[in-house]
Amino acid sequence: MRIIKSPYPDVSIPDESLFTYLFRTCYNEGKPTDPAFIDAATGKAISREQTRDFALRFAYALREGFAQQGGISLKRGDTIMCFSVNSISWPIFMYGAFAAGVKATLANSGYTARELEYQYKDSGSKMVVVHPMMLPVVLEMFQNMNIPGREVKQRVIIADYGMKRAPGTENFVNIDDLLRKGSLGVEEQFAGELAHEVAFICYSSGTTGNPKGVMTTHRNVIAETLLARKVIPVDKKKRDDVMLGVLPFYHIYGACNLMAIPFSNGFPVVVVPKFDIIATFQCIEKYRITMMLAVPPMFLAMARHPARTKHNLSTLRYMNSGAAPLGAPLATELRTKLQAQGSNCWITQGYGLTESTSGSHCLHFEDHERKVGTVGHLMSNMEARLVREDGTDAEVGEPGELWMRGPIIMKGYHNNPEANAKSFSKDGFFITGDVATIDEEGYFRIVDRVKELIKYKGFQVAPAELESLLLQHPDINDAAVIGIEDEEEATEIPRAYVVHKDGRQNIDTEAFARAVQKWIEPRVAKHKLLRGGVVVIDIIPKSLSGKILRRELKERAKTETVST
Ligand code: AMP
Repeated sequence: MRIIKSPYPDVSIPDESLFTYLFRTCYNEGKPTDPAFIDAATGKAISREQTRDFALRFAYALREGFAQQGGISLKRGDTIMCFSVNSISWPIFMYGAFAAGVKATLANSGYTARELEYQYKDSGSKMVVVHPMMLPVVLEMFQNMNIPGREVKQRVIIADYGMKRAPGTENFVNIDDLLRKGSLGVEEQFAGELAHEVAFICYSSGTTGNPKGVMTTHRNVIAETLLARKVIPVDKKKRDDVMLGVLPFYHIYGACNLMAIPFSNGFPVVVVPKFDIIATFQCIEKYRITMMLAVPPMFLAMARHPARTKHNLSTLRYMNSGAAPLGAPLATELRTKLQAQGSNCWITQGYGLTESTSGSHCLHFEDHERKVGTVGHLMSNMEARLVREDGTDAEVGEPGELWMRGPIIMKGYHNNPEANAKSFSKDGFFITGDVATIDEEGYFRIVDRVKELIKYKGFQVAPAELESLLLQHPDINDAAVIGIEDEEEATEIPRAYVVHKDGRQNIDTEAFARAVQKWIEPRVAKHKLLRGGVVVIDIIPKSLSGKILRRELKERAKTETVST
């Protein structure tokens, strides 16, 4: 067996709560009064010490304060659902949950009531912390679950810190009401073995099937924070770093890299609710952003949008892409264009998964040109294998499935022994479903994916979920969903192949395809829409054991023109 080790020296990972670790170390790198999170629209900021104070107050609210207002009370080990676009309420409720010893399940802010209900029930959530804008979705979810209105009020907290009370939320308790109640004073302890208790439950479909709850522990996040320090170019002399917080906080990429890593490195995050290219340029200029973490479609928009040259982007020093492949041509194009505007910006790429607490690999900024297109080295403390189909190890330069072991790998999937058995090798390697190569110098390149997953602009789309939804359509007898490349948008898009109950010959296939696209629209979050079109076929290709032969459909897609 050939085990690949990280070339970086191991770091020692403390066994404690994430909350204890962050607030024990964060003042080494910045003053308590330094801003930690800044609202991009209003400029309102919360400092490091306010973040701690508010979080401990929110922790008290979860334990007792909310109950004094008629809500439910939580105990250590319970789970709350966080359903919000990015806002400066996030550090309050998320760190508050950790301080209370409560797990946070982070839901995609675009979810419909149906999708939210799946995660709420699957994660065993007891209540929801929700942005005012998304309250109607939560109310619809509770209505669908037949929860009476009185009980709904006991389970909802409005996350509107620093905002005016939104119409329609007056009957619910909000963060401001709760922060006045008192403080927990001291956070729950997770010392020693307890550091392996769960902090986050984000959702990922893994290699197959429906989304599953990924159990990320306190120690996983502390490890990720320490590992990332080796590859992020923090300017300790100038101390002028500011990070743009545009990635969603509910995805592991944002949850760790925007919520924990800047905090522990002593610089602030400018919080942006959603990506908009003009607002991004304005924000970089206004807040003198030095670091930006993004996904490839954002890089594409920055490289191609004509408004780029109208803004001063010269403060940008470091940009990292993750969650989907960033090709060398796009990285170079953006770097050259930014250079022409006076910004000498390192552009790097990381690779990771929800199951690896975000980045397991990241190109070191010093290698950004020489090794462009790779995802760099395996990070500290990590081990990997590249495994051929027959279970043997691939040679240098030869593709193999990436298996990984180390302190950032999740504890397992929540309540899912079957998926856990399939996802780990006997000797504890997590089986990623991604195919990679390694070169003589230890740089990895992600070259393919053998799992079912589709990624639309960095967001997961689980084919199995869309397939089971399509099978609920009264006229569809069978369905398969695959991802196809959309080069213009630098992303994959989902395409469905469906079998009509009356047979392809007897219907207007184009009209039916359009009708299916429309039918799915209200049922799923926007990133799952069938942007790659719907194709009506006679039969879904399957193996003898009934598995969809996705490769066959992907081959077919290459030769097909489909109206979308
Ligand atoms: P998620 O759990 O949503 O972060 O998705 C993880 C998946 O995103 C991985 O298994 C890969 O398929 C894909 N991914 C992440 N980073 C990269 C990258 N740099 N290049 C190619 N694929 C990536």
